[in-house]
Amino acid sequence: MNPIYHRAAFLKSAPSLETTPTDQGLEVAFAGRSNAGKSSAINSLTRQNQLAKISKTPGRTQMLNFFEFGTDLRFVDLPGYGYAKVPEDVKLQWYRLMESYLNKRQSLCAIVLVMDVRHPMTDFDWQMVEWCEHAQLPMHILLTKSDKLTYGAGKNTLLKVQRELSKFTIPLSLQLFSSLKKTGIDEVHAALDSLFSMGGQQAEDEVGEDTAS
Ligand code: GDP
Repeated sequence: MNPIYHRAAFLKSAPSLETTPTDQGLEVAFAGRSNAGKSSAINSLTRQNQLAKISKTPGRTQMLNFFEFGTDLRFVDLPGYGYAKVPEDVKLQWYRLMESYLNKRQSLCAIVLVMDVRHPMTDFDWQMVEWCEHAQLPMHILLTKSDKLTYGAGKNTLLKVQRELSKFTIPLSLQLFSSLKKTGIDEVHAALDSLFSMGGQQAEDEVGEDTAS
């Protein structure tokens, strides 16, 4: 458990890359199909019941929602995707925002992808993994709502998803999670520690390269 994540507080919502907070420090973004359990996961791991509710308020659902928990350390709640009845122009707007954010944001160091353990690897999820591979962003996957399956069935899904993703070259880890039962929280914290640490290391290496050249 790392209590630093409990300190997360809402920073701002941004409808475009141009309106995001200053691009410095490190951030980990949470992605997931609508209803996958992303907000509940953010609330559970920050131990704050209402935190991700902000991202669900009218007008903010298609925005990047930033939460800060230390000097220049942030979580970003990415807009959910997958409502069947979303109009085409909203889908296109979502696609453009995600693509530019994932490719251009310097402080973005990793993605946490939240999936319902009963419906893993939807088209949206594949798209997300492909984008991360393209941008060489490490990824941690939460197979949430694991309380809906027996332990054995959950483990089987985990192994199946792991096999399906074995062709990718980015650092990839995954785990079972339940916001309802509050299981897997220590494991997410450890994964976040590792993602932020990798991001910090990479930033230092890039500074080293810049000063060397
Ligand atoms: P989001 O749209 O991805 O942010 O999803 P939410 O966090 O709002 O969750 C969608 C629905 O799934 C809500 O009804 C939650 O109560 C439920 N839910 C979320 N996480 C869990 C979980 O771990 N177990 C169970 N059984 N239900 C969950």
